[in-house]
Amino acid sequence: MQPQPPRRRTDRTPHPTHRPHGTDRADTALPAGTTAPAAPGTPPASPGPAPASPATTTATASAAPAADPSSIHTPTPAPIRIRTRIRARIRTRTRRTAAFASVTALTLAVSTAGAAHLTSGAAASGAGSNSLSRSPALAPCMISGARSVQMTEGVPTSTGYARSTGTVHALTLMIDFSDAPGEGTALDRFHEFFPQTQEWFRTASYGRLDYRPETPITHWLRMPKPFKEYGIERGAPFDPGYRDLVQDIAAAADSQVDFRRYDLLNVLMTPNAGPSALDTVLSVTFAGNPDAPTADGVPLANASFVYSRQDDGSGSYDRTGYRVLPHENGHVFGLPDLYTQEGGGAVGHWDIMSEDWGADNDLLGWHKWKLGWLDADQVNCASRRGSAEYTLTPLERAGGPKLIFVPLDGSTGYALELRTREGNDEAVCRPGVLIYKVNADVDTGSGPITVYDAHRDSGGCSRSPNVQAELSDAPFAPGETFKDPRSKIRIDVAAADLEGNYRVRVTRQ
Ligand SMILES: [Zn+2]
Repeated sequence: MQPQPPRRRTDRTPHPTHRPHGTDRADTALPAGTTAPAAPGTPPASPGPAPASPATTTATASAAPAADPSSIHTPTPAPIRIRTRIRARIRTRTRRTAAFASVTALTLAVSTAGAAHLTSGAAASGAGSNSLSRSPALAPCMISGARSVQMTEGVPTSTGYARSTGTVHALTLMIDFSDAPGEGTALDRFHEFFPQTQEWFRTASYGRLDYRPETPITHWLRMPKPFKEYGIERGAPFDPGYRDLVQDIAAAADSQVDFRRYDLLNVLMTPNAGPSALDTVLSVTFAGNPDAPTADGVPLANASFVYSRQDDGSGSYDRTGYRVLPHENGHVFGLPDLYTQEGGGAVGHWDIMSEDWGADNDLLGWHKWKLGWLDADQVNCASRRGSAEYTLTPLERAGGPKLIFVPLDGSTGYALELRTREGNDEAVCRPGVLIYKVNADVDTGSGPITVYDAHRDSGGCSRSPNVQAELSDAPFAPGETFKDPRSKIRIDVAAADLEGNYRVRVTRQ
């Protein structure tokens, strides 16, 4: 999350000195204080491949050298180095195949590939991988990343994450410490995030994710040690601080909680634990981690720790500050971070995994397919040569075709969807067809998705606080064209009908 700097400066950047020790990702934060926020008129941050830059109606992927889509996701040395470090750490620290951590201004995700869930029973089946709707026609669009990618955009989602369809039981515990006693009641804390979070998921998933936050313990659960003794500076790798904390949570709650009943764990920390929320607001998720401490015989493999709502200074705190939790839970469901070290210039406000600040936003159609919220017949795979026309209905409405994917090879492709201002997408100021590149070989936080800006350098159409302005007018309107000459792909947005559906022509030579 790299927010545009709020009016009130709240630096959520993990300062280098605060960066979790042992963190594998070089993901620094983009803090509202240190990163130049996409000022209107500023081109997207670098990883963001300067995309299509149509003067008026034609966006050509190669309009500028930097816009060559084929070079957009060329792995930079950084991710490679990071992966190497991850492997090294895994060898010494865990038995399983993969561990991964990312830290950002306010989130950190750790993912370990594996096959365990918070519960081994009812929740064990139904991971994203099992709920993905597929058909033979979609096979060429099921891109996948190399095994070294810890948290990939590939489909299906690997096993080990919490399931993202059906009834999901989210064990939600409010914890405090002797040196940071909970202020107010624990249920007040709970209601800072609910029912908003479950409503957000219901809307985003078209009702397919029935998210049930459950609080078998309704008071503050006091930890046996003072907060400072855990050595957690909010964002931190799993060991040793968070591991100790998870073990203590399990022990403290065990007599009242059957951990086998739940799909994921939300830990709502007392906000006064650790640095001031105005100083460091790191939230943390450990996802798909079978080496997590166990309780009632199951590993607490998918857990989100949230310290605070996001007061972004925009005055919408009560209405939108909860969105850090759906972001963190997105990791629990296997979704990577879409912002990069440079900020939110790659995807902007088009996905909550990119920006969860300010105005509400939805998830990309690619993520909805990945999470099992789209049927196979709502996804079109444009893998054949020639020209074909498709219809797109607004992503925010249930039913109808939602996603067109144009595969380039086994790990990359272009995704197309229609974004309008409805549902969770209150920040949309210029409806149209959003075109973005998905690269399953690029890891979380390194820019696995890049949105093409149909109106590059325009400054965007949004003036909402904490919305990446430049990309806010990224969608292509009827009459506008996206071209990738190198791959010989052309996408024409043909027309919109009275119901708001769009016709799109995809041509592959
Ligand atoms: Zn994140």
